[in-house]
Amino acid sequence: MPRKRTSVHYALSWREPNSHLFDVAIRFTAARQDPELSLPAWRPGRYLIQNYAANVRQWEASDSRGRVLPIQKVGKSRWRVEAAAGTKIVVRYRFFAGTLDAGSSFLDEREAYFNGSNLFMMVVDRRNEPADLLLQVPEGWDVETQLPRAGGAAADGSELRLARDYDHLIDSPTIIAPDLRTHIFEEAGAHIYLVFQNADGIDTRQFVEPARTIVASQAALFGGLPLDEYRLLFHVGNVWHGVEHEDSSSIILRRADLLGARPGEEGFDHTLAITSHELFHLWNVKRIMPQRFRPYDYSVETPTRLLWVMEGITSYYGEGTLVRSGLWTRERYLRHLAREISTLESSPGREHLSLAQASLDSWLQEPAQMHDKANSWISFYNKGEIVGVLLDLQIREMTGGRKSLDDVMQALWKKYGSGKSGIPEDGFEAAVRRIAGDGIEPFFRKYVDGTEPLPYEELFATAGVELRRLPAAAEPGLQLSVRAVSERLFVESVVQGGAAARAGLLPADEIVALADIRVTTQSELKTALRGLAGTRHLDILIARGGQLRTLHAEPAPYQSVEISMVIAADADAGQRGRLESWLGNPS
Ligand SMILES: [Zn+2]
Repeated sequence: MPRKRTSVHYALSWREPNSHLFDVAIRFTAARQDPELSLPAWRPGRYLIQNYAANVRQWEASDSRGRVLPIQKVGKSRWRVEAAAGTKIVVRYRFFAGTLDAGSSFLDEREAYFNGSNLFMMVVDRRNEPADLLLQVPEGWDVETQLPRAGGAAADGSELRLARDYDHLIDSPTIIAPDLRTHIFEEAGAHIYLVFQNADGIDTRQFVEPARTIVASQAALFGGLPLDEYRLLFHVGNVWHGVEHEDSSSIILRRADLLGARPGEEGFDHTLAITSHELFHLWNVKRIMPQRFRPYDYSVETPTRLLWVMEGITSYYGEGTLVRSGLWTRERYLRHLAREISTLESSPGREHLSLAQASLDSWLQEPAQMHDKANSWISFYNKGEIVGVLLDLQIREMTGGRKSLDDVMQALWKKYGSGKSGIPEDGFEAAVRRIAGDGIEPFFRKYVDGTEPLPYEELFATAGVELRRLPAAAEPGLQLSVRAVSERLFVESVVQGGAAARAGLLPADEIVALADIRVTTQSELKTALRGLAGTRHLDILIARGGQLRTLHAEPAPYQSVEISMVIAADADAGQRGRLESWLGNPS
């Protein structure tokens, strides 16, 4: 492939890894007087303002002869260099990288990991020009990233990577570390890299064949892989978290769940599920994307009603791939689905917040700003997945089993996958209509734009699956969640309409005592409540605003929702056929 000349040159290095400070240098020639640079305020995959500029410090600018040029901030994420057009400019700054999640950047003595969206400023007006990135790699350390190499490593250990443009540069998570463990396999004409960082004590090889199965299954759905190489960059850490990119994913696995985990166990299953979800994104959101994201505006919120399609439908295909490809049994899959439905049916917000609205309002869901999230919010991942399942069953029912959601995804891929245009806000519904007919319209009004109860029984019955609502334990309680901090107990959330809510408790209240019994931990609260069983009027001593207050509660039983799903023993041949075409042949 002929190389286009790069015009913006990035360099990343560090001096003391345990300072967690990256040194970034950007070299470019000013195309106009007083050029400006900006840093994203959010990153694709997390639809919340995160203000990465908060971690930038010590910025300075000079010309090619080392003469200092004035540089000033002209916005919260924007800088201006005073220089004439044509000046060769170097901008340098430091970036604090002390948080490790799938979308962050992290530096210590064991690794350098970054998401370019956090730390690489864009030279304004040069977004679409090719760029390169010079990495200063310590001896014996390796680099894994989707950015292609320009030649081999230099004698001084530096390594040059190429980016088509700024978007490609910042879409490319990178790990540089001395002990990366990499497994490579070929599937659907592409090389797939499984890269593990910090995987001591984990049997990483056992994920290779399942990963191959997942890749093969999803590639078959879309008629192949639209890439030559794909990287799954795994960190073994302390959370479950994944972020998708064009030709790679960054995934954090939870060590405590993964140590010793074998197929069928929670940690193993979760690893497959998150891998499958992120891989599916290479089609759905990285190539089939909302029109509102073409191009991304990294400086402001970019609301779209389609996030449930991007995340919820991807979640459906995430676990769906596992059952259809035989990695999971149908029973295992239905257990997963039942848990998702239990979560949704236990969310008070489902009664007033629609799926489309939750998608649009993703930018408001930061708990520091959304003060009653437990009661006001629903997850568009969670409800989006369930609506995806039901929509699939609805399409199959309306077309006599001839069409499915797969046809919709294939049509979207054909129409939006390779081009520069994105899905308009009504484009997903329009694609479904073309497959299922206009009769599908009420489904969207009721369950996507509206908050009507979902038609579980009716649609699962078409595939011979029964949904049962189990009576859950209903001991009298307060219906709140708490968090203990240094022997002090704080309210985290109260359930709308529950006993704690009626008594007036608020998130952040400190619970000091129940009926004069001091409580400092979650288990003490439980024990006290059990000891007070039968008490109809309960005094709760709380601290709020620096004062002690007594609130009066009436403990009450609370029926939480627990769902189970089973394949009906008396399902007829039609239902069994639908089940097979939906979830695949039994393994
Ligand atoms: Zn996702």
